Amino acid sequence: MTIYNFSAGPAVLPHEVLQQAREELLDWHGSGMSVMEMSHRGKEFMGIAAAAESDLRGLLAIPTNYKVLFLQGGAHLQFAMIPLNLLRGKSSADYVNTGEWSKKAIAEAKKFSNVNIVASGADKNFINVPAFDTWQCDPNAAYLHYTSNETIGGVEFNWVPETGGIPLVADMSSNIISRQIDVSKYGLIYAGAQKNIGPAGLCIVIVREDLIGHVSPSTPTMLDYKIHADNESMYNTPPTYGIYMAGLVFQWLKRNGGLAQMEQTNISKANLLYQAIDASNGFYNCPVVKSDRSRMNVPFTLKDASLDGEFLKQADTHGLLQLKGHRSVGGMRASIYNAMPLEGVQTLVDFITHFAKQHG
Ligand SMILES: *Cc1c(COP(=O)(O)O)cnc(C)c1O
Repeated sequence: MTIYNFSAGPAVLPHEVLQQAREELLDWHGSGMSVMEMSHRGKEFMGIAAAAESDLRGLLAIPTNYKVLFLQGGAHLQFAMIPLNLLRGKSSADYVNTGEWSKKAIAEAKKFSNVNIVASGADKNFINVPAFDTWQCDPNAAYLHYTSNETIGGVEFNWVPETGGIPLVADMSSNIISRQIDVSKYGLIYAGAQKNIGPAGLCIVIVREDLIGHVSPSTPTMLDYKIHADNESMYNTPPTYGIYMAGLVFQWLKRNGGLAQMEQTNISKANLLYQAIDASNGFYNCPVVKSDRSRMNVPFTLKDASLDGEFLKQADTHGLLQLKGHRSVGGMRASIYNAMPLEGVQTLVDFITHFAKQHG
């Protein structure tokens, strides 16, 4: 039986990539060493890291005035590093609140800065992205932060906020490299790797050069983007194996038509699943408004929540794993990142349709 893993993160990786990693595990390209055993300053690993960076630059068409940093500490550390680095003497930053991850970013920023909530989805229980014409932006904000895809609530931006010169900062942990974006519209993009890039332990930051180098002298060295940029992410030992795996994922994307093709596949996958949910006559429900539904994380509930346990048990026996919703929202959640094949989503759709017939 084929197993399909719908975990929100750490999440499914392309099968081909895992096979390649297995083949190269003990002896990388005749070096006689595993990538895990290599010095991060040796020519082999320096080559691996440079290729990973260059492939990511190619995939996202990252302009030359942006640095790509391979960091640790996850997206959570970025919640603090962003205000520490980007306030640049200003006293306030703008944040959009679209759900659980926005809230965490906001709570951390408040330790360092005044935070102006420009818009919040809270009054509608986070089922949509607040309309841009309702946003109350501060013209003096140091930057504007938003979460481009709320992994828990399943709300995704299908548009980019226009900030009129204020640096735009996006937490793209769960939708980076799932679609084409215009990097030049952003001041900073960050993403923990374990959703759509590779194994946990790596966090990627893409930052415009003029925004770095402004920290106060008391900032810890490791929290200064400039240190990492000046040292090509090798100020200390970087997460070498995670960078290697991310590089293999970038090569896999390149071989398969890049982000243009990936985006089309992701649209097809998401449409297939949302259509099945919407066609169930209320047996299943996705609370998110249609225009703001995530292509990556699809939350849905069963009308009769007493069937949740049976649903999950049967899904498991069909090889459909990790469908339980986040503890804060309940119900189900299917994460269908880049590495989830269309057949996986089709198998899930067949299963949920059959289950609804049986129990409807
Ligand atoms: C998973 C996730 C995070 C947290 O990532 P860590 O790497 O665990 O810190 C933050 N933001 C979003 C949108 C996420 O999906």
